[in-house]
Amino acid sequence: MNVSDKSHVEMLVQIARLLATLDLDDVLWQTISLTTQTVGAARGTFFLLDEHGETLQRFIAAQNYDPETRQIVSRRILEQGLAGWVMAHQQSALIDDTATDPRWVVLDAEKELLRVRSVLCVPFFVEGELRGVMTLEHPQPRHFTPEHLRLVEAAAHQAAASLRNAQLFDRVQAQQRQLQAVLDGISEGLLVLDTELCVRLVNPAALTLFGVTEADVLGFNLEVLAEQLANPFYARLAEGVKAAVQDTANNRFELRDDLTKRDFVVNVANVSAKRTAESGIVIALNDVSSLKDLTRLKTHMIQMASHDLKNPIGVLRNYLDVIRAEVKSGVLPDPMFLENMYKSLARMESLVVNLLDIQRAEDAEPLKREPFDPYDLINASLEDMTPSVRMRQQSLVQNIQPNLRPLKGDFDRLREVINNLIDNAVKYTPDGGTISISAYAEDERFTFSVKDTGYGIPADQQASIFQPYFRATQASTAHISGTGVGLSLVKEVIERHGGQVWFISKEGQGSTFGFWLPILT
Ligand code: ADP
Repeated sequence: MNVSDKSHVEMLVQIARLLATLDLDDVLWQTISLTTQTVGAARGTFFLLDEHGETLQRFIAAQNYDPETRQIVSRRILEQGLAGWVMAHQQSALIDDTATDPRWVVLDAEKELLRVRSVLCVPFFVEGELRGVMTLEHPQPRHFTPEHLRLVEAAAHQAAASLRNAQLFDRVQAQQRQLQAVLDGISEGLLVLDTELCVRLVNPAALTLFGVTEADVLGFNLEVLAEQLANPFYARLAEGVKAAVQDTANNRFELRDDLTKRDFVVNVANVSAKRTAESGIVIALNDVSSLKDLTRLKTHMIQMASHDLKNPIGVLRNYLDVIRAEVKSGVLPDPMFLENMYKSLARMESLVVNLLDIQRAEDAEPLKREPFDPYDLINASLEDMTPSVRMRQQSLVQNIQPNLRPLKGDFDRLREVINNLIDNAVKYTPDGGTISISAYAEDERFTFSVKDTGYGIPADQQASIFQPYFRATQASTAHISGTGVGLSLVKEVIERHGGQVWFISKEGQGSTFGFWLPILT
C-alpha cells in the first residue's frame, strides 16, 4: 500500500466515523474538507437538496459570495452548470479541462476568485434518491484522475448514511421546536405521563395553573406528587386518568383543585402504541373556573329570584289582600301589617342591592381616589345600617378613636364595604345580640372592625369565607338568605385600596370582621 492509498483509506475511515455526528453542517463540512484535502483540490462545494430532492437546503463552502450572489450562483449552477448536469444525469463527471468542456459554465462572480480548469463532480444518493452534489475544483487542467473520481464516489457513498442521519435529526429537531412552540403557546395545561403515571412533560400553562415549577413535578408519579405537594388534587387526577385509560369512551372528566380553587375539564388521550417504548398518556387541562363561577352565579340568581324574592313578594301580596278587604269595609289597616310589609320590602331591597354589587364587581369599575373624613364614612354607614340593627333589637356599641386623620379612596365603595360587614354582623347574630364597631389609626394604617355575638363560622369552613359565592353551611344559619358575594366584594375593594381584610370567628360565640387601609397623604 503506498502513501496515497493509506491516506485514501484514512479518509474513508474518517468519513465513516461521521455516522456518529448528528449536526448536518458538520457532516457536510467534514466530508468536503476531508475529500478536498485527500484529492488535493483547491476548493470543494456542496449542494444539498431537501429530503424530497426538490429544493436546495444547503450550499456549503461558497462562503466567499455574499448571500445574494450565493443564491444567483447556486441557482445558475443547478440549472445550467456542471452540478445541474450531474443531477440531471445522476452520474459523476470528471472534467479534465474546463476550457474545452461545454458542461462547465463560468460565472461572472467566479472569474476573479479562482480560475477553475479541472473539476470533479459526484452525486450523493440516500437510499437510491439523489440528495446532493459535491464539486471539487482545481486551477490546473487534468489535476483529477479516474482514481480520484472513484475515491470521491466511495466517500460520497460512505457519507450518505451520515447525511441521512443528520438530516433526520435535523427534521426531528425542527419538529421538536415546532412542538415546543405549540406547547408554550397554548393556554390549556398539558401534561404527558408515562404508563407509570410519572410526569414526562409539562407545558408552561400547566405550571401556571398548578402554581408549581417544572422541578416540582417533572419525573414524579401523580400519587407521589399528591403527597409531596400536599394536594390531593394530583391523586384524584391519577384516579381519573386511570379510569379514562380503562374506558376510552369516558376520556373526559371534571376536577376541582381545592387548593388553588380552580375547576378543570380534563381530557385524556392514551397514545401508548404497541411495540414501542414511547408510550404515554397526554392530559389536557382546560381551566373552566370562570365558567363554573358563572354557573354558580346563575344558580344563585335563580335561587334568589325563585326563593328569596318570591317569598317577600308573597308576604306583601297577602298583606295587601287583607288591607284591601279592610279598606273596602272602612277599617283602617293594622300598623303591624304595614311594619311587616316594610320589612319584606327591605329584604327585597337588600337582595337587589346585592345583585347590583355583583354586576358592578364584574364591570370592575375604576376606584376613585379622593380625600375624605373617616368619621363621615362611619356615620354614613351607621345611618344606612342602624334601622336593621334596631329591627333586630340588637345593641350597637361604638369604639371610635378621636382625631382620626383623613383617608384617601373611593368613599361610596368603602361605605358599601362597611355596610356589608355590619349587615353580616346583624344577619348572623340572633335578635338581642351586640354589634360593636371600632376604628383606630396605628402605624400609618386605619383599622376598622365589626364584632358580633352571633353564630360564628365553623373552623373547617373559615378558609373559604372570602371566596365568591361561598356560604358557610351550618344548621344555625340555614334559615338566613344571602348570595355569598358580600365578603368577596369587601376583600376586592379593600385590596384595591392597598389594604387587607381579616377576621376571627368561633362557632357559637361570634365573629369579628375587619380591615386596614394605608393612610395616604
Ligand atoms: P352572604 O351573607 O350573602 O351569604 P357574604 O359573602 O357576606 O355572603 O358572607 C359569606 C358567608 O360568610 C356567609 O354566608 C356566612 O356563612 C359567613 N359570614 C359572613 N359574615 C359572618 C358573620 N358576621 N358571622 C357569621 N358568619 C358570617
